[in-house]
Amino acid sequence: NASRLLGKTVLITGASSGIGAATAILFAKGGANLILTARRADVLKTVADACTSAHKESGVQQGGRIATIQLDVSDKTQIGAFLDKIPSDLRNVDVLVNNAGFVLGVERVGDIAAADYESMFATNVFGLIAMTQLFIKDFKTRKTGHVINIGSIAGREPYAGGSIYCATKHAVNAFTAAMMRELVDTPIRVTEIQPGMVETEFSVIRFRGDKSAADKVYDGLQPLVAEDIAEEIVWAASRPPHVNLAEVFVLPVNQA
Ligand code: NDP
Repeated sequence: NASRLLGKTVLITGASSGIGAATAILFAKGGANLILTARRADVLKTVADACTSAHKESGVQQGGRIATIQLDVSDKTQIGAFLDKIPSDLRNVDVLVNNAGFVLGVERVGDIAAADYESMFATNVFGLIAMTQLFIKDFKTRKTGHVINIGSIAGREPYAGGSIYCATKHAVNAFTAAMMRELVDTPIRVTEIQPGMVETEFSVIRFRGDKSAADKVYDGLQPLVAEDIAEEIVWAASRPPHVNLAEVFVLPVNQA
């Protein structure tokens, strides 16, 4: 029931493109308020404008308040200063979508640069943990809240050439499942969304900007689009309060 989103405040990391941007627009349509974060402030503003238009077109009266805050989740100083940057009317976050993440390169273990494996862990794992820690105490105090972490098929099935990315997403999977168990006596919900192949900027970043190599991955297969995952995220957030979608594994029909 979409009415459960009305007036809720949703914070999304990595909201400047792909799954994060599509999720922001869908939440805006449903009457939620939004805090959109990512490193590229200019692109975030474009997404915020799209959210405002989507909210207006939906005709929904509630929600539609949108703030953008530049944030690199891998930067501890920025994390430390983050809460103070949230406008006072958006301080009571209801849903945290930990979406920021990437895979850089397809090298085999002996060839991976330390800077690359460190940056993937810093964003995909430590950034996600740090953001969760920022909000979990407040969720406990307010006896509400929903943490939605974006994992991956890579967090279930490791593949050659993806050792570090798969390790980060296995970490997300373990962290999310353990946290859900820790919070079992509370009304706080914890969800992990595990997408298969989704065509976004992610696909090209993996191949360090080589679009033709990125496109080859989708030969003979129709990948998911960001909106497919956005629908699952918004669906999870709009279940009745006693329902927790623990894991949602979403694949293109021809990916096994
Ligand atoms: P995109 O590249 O389109 O989006 C990734 C987002 O993360 C961007 O908004 C980017 O914005 C942001 N981001 C990256 N690093 C940081 C950082 N350090 N701090 C803050 N924001 C950051 O890819 P997707 O939408 O596809 O990816 C979203 C999530 O989905 C990721 O966690 C990814 O691992 C996961 N996923 C994707 C799949 C796919 O096939 N596409 C499959 C399975 C999971 P900016 O550069 O402005 O900071």
